[in-house]
Amino acid sequence: MKTNRPENPHQAALLRLLRDGPRSRAELNDLTSDAAAPSGQSYGASNWRMSRSKLNASLDRLVDLGLVEPDGLAESRGGRRSGRVRLSSTTRFAAIDIGATSVDVAITDGELNVLGHVSEPCDIRTGPAPVLDRVLDLVGKLREQGLYTQLIGAGIGVPGPVSFAEGVPVVPPIMPGWNRYPLRETISQELGCPAMLDNDVNIMALGELHAGVARQVNDFLLVKIGTGVGCGIVVDGKIYRGVSGSAGDIGHIGVDENGPVCPCGNTGCLEAYFGGSALATQAESAARSEASPYLAERLAAAGSLTAEDVAIAAAQGDPVAIKLIRDGGRRVGQVLAGLVSFFNPGLVIIAGGVARLGHVLLAEIRSVVYRRSLPLATGNLPIVLSELEDIAGVVGAARLISDHVYSS
Ligand SMILES: [Zn+2]
Repeated sequence: MKTNRPENPHQAALLRLLRDGPRSRAELNDLTSDAAAPSGQSYGASNWRMSRSKLNASLDRLVDLGLVEPDGLAESRGGRRSGRVRLSSTTRFAAIDIGATSVDVAITDGELNVLGHVSEPCDIRTGPAPVLDRVLDLVGKLREQGLYTQLIGAGIGVPGPVSFAEGVPVVPPIMPGWNRYPLRETISQELGCPAMLDNDVNIMALGELHAGVARQVNDFLLVKIGTGVGCGIVVDGKIYRGVSGSAGDIGHIGVDENGPVCPCGNTGCLEAYFGGSALATQAESAARSEASPYLAERLAAAGSLTAEDVAIAAAQGDPVAIKLIRDGGRRVGQVLAGLVSFFNPGLVIIAGGVARLGHVLLAEIRSVVYRRSLPLATGNLPIVLSELEDIAGVVGAARLISDHVYSS
């Protein structure tokens, strides 16, 4: 069975408007007429303005194509009641968020509401074949639960650099065996629908743009602090990927020439100071030197330490753990202050596993950025923690593929 796609930019613009929820024809006319004032989210096409007759003809055609359906009548605004429309209630996207140590799969409707979500541990280092087996198995489970009969598209995120144009990971440091693996094409063939692939940071940013703290913000940065550190850059409601897809790879910005050697070969990279790996190493050395009796006890019990141990120690008031988080937050803040001066974002979101270090981390990052950037850039700059946390990736993966399907 073939799924239909919009035939022109007008239809595509209406689908993107309806992705935010059902609307009456009168409301859609307000949003798309020549008299409409530009406001809120940008819909990604310069020529989405249309006359009332063009609007009605486009909506009728979208109903014929099975992409939109009538949704009763709207409240009267004084005259005849306007017919409401919504995206087809059978539209389904698959959202696949492959992490370093886990995989998340969700099915969403056309408005990207998560209808079902499964997550399980999965080591990306086992390579593409076993990981894809797990992914397809989880998608199959959601199908057995009756969540879909036909997918209109699949969005995928992976924890490494991606050539967006080719749909392949490129020399991903923590994904051995995945270099140039045709992931987008394979998923597309297996699931019988179009697919899109991006890195995990970009899909988290898209998730926050669609349903999180960045919902009303067109220009923002999302800094993900997980095992490593990366940054999603959203410009005018769209991900900025740069010429080759590596924009936002801030983990290897140098913060100190005389700093420790980073696995990338340079010295003093941000990631060599902060991120899940660096924090675990620093915590273990604090434990061995007996500077922190609490961390020493955890190390003796578990054999190794993680960023989460540091978070727990800090929450219990351990001064060494709190200092590790403050020092790391200060380094992130230094890099971020530079990015804020350069980019002048409307919002900065701190996300990822290490972001669960919470308010000590956030307070340190805020204090450095507010102190080091110019008042004009920070006067109206919220720096906040992610709202969606665990589902940012799948919502963003659905947003990624919906941007593709709802375009012409
Ligand atoms: Zn580096």
